[in-house]
Amino acid sequence: MALTFDDGPDPESTPRFLDALDALDVRATFFVLGDGVVRHPAVVRETVRRGHELAVHGWSHDRPWRPAPADDVRSLLRAVHAVLEATGRRPRWYRPPYGILTGGRWAAARAVGLRPVLWSVWGRDWTAGATPASVRTAVTAGLRGGGTVLLHDTDRMAAPDSWRVTLDALPGIVNDCRTAGLSVGPLAEHGVRDA
Ligand SMILES: [Zn+2]
Repeated sequence: MALTFDDGPDPESTPRFLDALDALDVRATFFVLGDGVVRHPAVVRETVRRGHELAVHGWSHDRPWRPAPADDVRSLLRAVHAVLEATGRRPRWYRPPYGILTGGRWAAARAVGLRPVLWSVWGRDWTAGATPASVRTAVTAGLRGGGTVLLHDTDRMAAPDSWRVTLDALPGIVNDCRTAGLSVGPLAEHGVRDA
């Protein structure tokens, strides 16, 4: 299973996830927003230093209201450069905000050398009513080898403090994966089909 987190970096919550993942001995992929990377470069540097993979979630968390191919390329390139400047590493993956992969965004990703990746299971951890048990149950119900779990390491786009629920759910999710005989890691470590 690939473990992925969206919407960071967040100077308050992301470090808590880094500690929790260390305790679980798990590496993950963080889909970051470029505007957050330039505000909190130390958080993304620390994420890489702890052995995790960074990927691009866009420049900001905007919806594709209308086709804008030139803007799509420009904002993705900006996000790639932000990650590259903060960490010295070029990201490989792209997950569009809201999972809305328009033709324009798909083409923009390919133009800047990113592979679009969505997910196979999510914890619905951004919702106001989510609990650690509900998040764990949602993820565990969809576990399968080669799958990709979507969680969030920040409440930037979610119900306030929802990241605490995700953080509490994390040990159980990792345990369920391991009990099912699945190893947990970043996207770089498992075969990913193009979205
Ligand atoms: Zn998102």
